[in-house]
Amino acid sequence: MQWEPVIGLELHVQLATRSKIFSGAATEFGAAPNAQACAVDLGLPGVLPVLNENAVKMAVRFGLAIGAEINEHSIFDRKNYFYPDLPKGYQISQFATPIVGAGKITLQMEDGGSREIRITRAHLEEDAGKSVHDLFPGLTGIDLNRTGTPLLEVVSEPDLRTPAEAAAYFRQMHALVRYLKICDGNLAEGSMRCDANVSVRPAGSNEFGERTEIKNINSFRFVERAVRFEIDRHIDILESGGTVERETRQYDPDRDETRAMRGKELSEDYRYFPDPDLLPLQLSPELINAVAAEMPELPAARTARYQAELGLTEYDANWLSNDPDVAEYFDAVLAVSGNAKQSANWIMGALAAHLNKADGDISSSPVSAAQLGTLILRLDDNTLSSKTARTLFEHLYESGADQPGLDVDAQIAALGLQQMDNSDELAALVDQVLADNPDQLAQLRAGKDKVLGFFVGQVMKLTQGKANPKQVNELIRERL
Ligand code: ADP
Ligand code: MG
Repeated sequence: MQWEPVIGLELHVQLATRSKIFSGAATEFGAAPNAQACAVDLGLPGVLPVLNENAVKMAVRFGLAIGAEINEHSIFDRKNYFYPDLPKGYQISQFATPIVGAGKITLQMEDGGSREIRITRAHLEEDAGKSVHDLFPGLTGIDLNRTGTPLLEVVSEPDLRTPAEAAAYFRQMHALVRYLKICDGNLAEGSMRCDANVSVRPAGSNEFGERTEIKNINSFRFVERAVRFEIDRHIDILESGGTVERETRQYDPDRDETRAMRGKELSEDYRYFPDPDLLPLQLSPELINAVAAEMPELPAARTARYQAELGLTEYDANWLSNDPDVAEYFDAVLAVSGNAKQSANWIMGALAAHLNKADGDISSSPVSAAQLGTLILRLDDNTLSSKTARTLFEHLYESGADQPGLDVDAQIAALGLQQMDNSDELAALVDQVLADNPDQLAQLRAGKDKVLGFFVGQVMKLTQGKANPKQVNELIRERL
């Protein structure tokens, strides 16, 4: 039997407001435990929540970016549950009437394909605190700094079909919220977390199978692995005649497996009801229009612009636009080099390969955009050959951590990487190579043009790649 996986993701996006969603306490990461929890966050009696206007604007901005309906009227509800890091005994969220309704994104896959993924809704809510299990032996600490941090929960339709699509969706949403400047995107600090819902069904079936939900995944790679593990687990259960239990699971990256956490609660369990302390949220068309007017350029528009204005291929333009940090780096390289195609090639080729290997981030690339731009300039004015340019790149990359921002021209001189120009030295080398290889020379004279490549190769080898292959070609032809 062929099985088809069905995947839907819920993303929690921490909104980059300075204060919390219902209080004036700071949201900054890394403060001493409980230094940033005020009376509202603690849920002390007699205090009232006040909605943060910026969180609302960020939600609207997101909604507009995914072409969603913005609900002018939305309601904050209490989601009731007990947990030590939730002192109020309820989380303020939006249930029946979220601020952002149905929208969609076009998923760009690495193989060049694309698919439309529907987004069910996005709603505002407050985050809970943190239980700290590893600080006090035998005890759990409670840190309420995160309590009340604004979250936008983005719920996708079960439209994703493969682990790779799930990872691509997460990655693309990550890029989008950073483009929109509504989230810092810091995955290690938990600024974006993902719950993955997974089920499988016989290929061709129209009904969904029973699903499980894997909670709190904070990396693209882990979401791909967790979903893959879960798909295989479902298939194993079903093929051995069992049934999948609806439950909440946890991914353990060290063992690359998921484990049951608890039975899945249903929404009835939470006893949602409108929060009597907060008025329904009524958005004016003016506010929505003002947010729309401040919308930054989005990845799709940037892709189109790179194609139209710079003549990049669709593939290159997409690759560079998808991540705002990459796009910014590319713009900075281009500003120096003035050569769009070469800038794209170096970023997508050598730089990406090096960064991938080191799991590095382009925003902290050891080779700065200015350096790469200058390197390309020197390639274009024939100071460097493609070979010596690669040598220089390696050198800048290796030195970057300890000596950032080395002067490119000084390094070319120091390493002796200048391409040999049409000097007597080069002509002498050509003569030497011709004299040293009489058999090949005879073949060349007899019209065997392929042997020309052999001679060029010999000269390049002698000059350690510093000769200009075109000039070497010409010199050899002159000799003939
Ligand atoms: P809950 O309230 O339990 O979180 P929702 O109905 O809001 O449930 O759905 C949560 C997520 O689960 C959504 O992203 C949705 O696309 C996904 N989902 C729903 N049904 C399935 C299914 N059968 N298989 C995989 N994902 C599913
Ligand atoms: Mg859920």
